[in-house]
Amino acid sequence: MSKRLRSSEVCADCSGPDPSWASVNRGTFICDECCSVHRSLGRHISQVRHLKHTPWPPTLLQMVETLYNNGANSIWEHSLLDPASILSGRRKANPQDKVHPNKAEFIKAKYQMLAFVHRLPCRDDDSVTAKDLSKQLHSSVRTGNLETCLRLLSLGAQANFFHPEKGNTPLHVASKAGQILQAELLAVYGADPGTQDSSGKTPVDYARQGGHHELAERLVEIQYELTDRLAFYLCGRKPDHKNGQHFIIPQMADSSLDLSELAKAAKKKLQSLSNHLFEELAMDVYDEVDRRETDAVWLATQNHSTLVTETTVVPFLPVNPEYSSTRNQGRQKLARFNAHEFATLVIDILSDAKRRQQGSPLSGSKDNVELILKTISNQHSIESQDNDQPDYDSVASDEETDLEATASKAHRQKIGRSALVTSSSSLPSFPSTLSWSRDESARRASRLEKQNSTPESDYDNTPNDRDLDDMGSSRKGRQRSMVWHSDGSGPDTTEPPAAPSPVLPSTEDVIRKTEQITKNIQELLRAAQENKHDSYIPCSERIHVAVTEMAALFPKKPKSDMVRTSLRLLTSSAYRLQSECKKTLPGDPGPPTDIQLVTQQVIQCAYDIAKAAKQLVTITTKENNN
Ligand SMILES: [Zn+2]
Repeated sequence: MSKRLRSSEVCADCSGPDPSWASVNRGTFICDECCSVHRSLGRHISQVRHLKHTPWPPTLLQMVETLYNNGANSIWEHSLLDPASILSGRRKANPQDKVHPNKAEFIKAKYQMLAFVHRLPCRDDDSVTAKDLSKQLHSSVRTGNLETCLRLLSLGAQANFFHPEKGNTPLHVASKAGQILQAELLAVYGADPGTQDSSGKTPVDYARQGGHHELAERLVEIQYELTDRLAFYLCGRKPDHKNGQHFIIPQMADSSLDLSELAKAAKKKLQSLSNHLFEELAMDVYDEVDRRETDAVWLATQNHSTLVTETTVVPFLPVNPEYSSTRNQGRQKLARFNAHEFATLVIDILSDAKRRQQGSPLSGSKDNVELILKTISNQHSIESQDNDQPDYDSVASDEETDLEATASKAHRQKIGRSALVTSSSSLPSFPSTLSWSRDESARRASRLEKQNSTPESDYDNTPNDRDLDDMGSSRKGRQRSMVWHSDGSGPDTTEPPAAPSPVLPSTEDVIRKTEQITKNIQELLRAAQENKHDSYIPCSERIHVAVTEMAALFPKKPKSDMVRTSLRLLTSSAYRLQSECKKTLPGDPGPPTDIQLVTQQVIQCAYDIAKAAKQLVTITTKENNN
């Protein structure tokens, strides 16, 4: 797109200048403020990407640009263009409007309620309408007219519609015609490049046959979009599909150390999930990866002081009303995983996705899995009677395990893409159970560590030993002494135990320190973006100083659980950040450094620190106002 077009662009929702985000599924560009509302509605309403700071497949960006420049926004504002609506006082938001409630209400009406979309005259049978629309879509995708297709999709046409007379789907048609932007649009709406037509051929086959090589390659990428995104989140790389590499499974140097029996059992449990439940879990984790990555971009691009006090945050995945409440709860719990725990889960999912796609047998026998599951559900009922989580047994019935065993090859091949298009389900979801077992394993681990470790400092808000142990036993001694020295608060057993204190620092002090932390984190994120690895250590040291000062504002034994949890996340993430940054030093003992993997871990630790600091601002603001 030319520079001239770019500069004339305005936010699709409020007409503010220079929009820096795109809503991919709506084909619009939006400003920061409107984007914050889009994000709070969830990916099922709007899939946002930053125009500069999110990596884009070139043809995906081209698709959105084409739509926006050709006026796709009028699809979502159709009735507002009617002079009658201007007379009635209905109007879109303008740049000076407040985000809440003005812009937010307009955006909800526009995209969530579809209040301004052109309605078809009512018919008796909705399914007939959807079928007609889908047939229209089927014939429209052979042309380059993207707006028509988006309009049809917005009215209810199905991207995966199998045309009974033609014996294929819209994506087959677009691929045959070499319409790469149409293929991008269909894929955003869930079209599956691996689906077969009546003669057993896929859209990828037709693209290759027609000599549309770029399209064929892109369709393969789209098939692996889910697992590629997870791999990229962990190590900043994607598999080389052209050369037949379809999975990257990063190994974290310190991941095997904290595998308690329960964590191992959770791994086994993952393997015994039916493909359907596994796909749901993978899709939920994909959404959480997207939330965290978008949050990190947000953190890097916003003014540091407004970030600290702004109220428009997306602390966990927004509710998708098409999912069961159990699944929505499970999705939200994913936000509680710290960077390390979440990375471990992502690696487990990648390994199992690969195993399932290649059709490898389970590593353990079915009996083993069942035995472990029984043990866990017993512990579950003994240790947490009041726990409202569903039992493992309700998730992993024998029936599902059998289904898994007899799952057809065809179904297995769908993993990686179909996870994105699986319809909602009322089955009990896995994430809640998994996060329960992980929470539990983390608690157990720290309990065990406490029993075995050297006497602890009275600082309840210093990290527990488990976090230090993550660094690996070979470096443990060195790291620990370094940590204590730099912290200046070594274990001190002579002090009498202090009573938990309900006193909180002033909101102003917490905000000031948080601004300092945020500013340094932004610097670190920019260094990561620009591959300035030399800056990692000085940045992480400044963050560590700011975090230590922040922690010092709080009493040694804070009474509130929430304060303690946030302080622990804050300080342990700062320690982990430092140890990750030190891996960039040449000559560091241990396995050779994968700089991209380190960079991703650095970003995720920084993200955890920012999150914890922000939590402390929220808590102190709330408590001090009471
Ligand atoms: Zn706007």
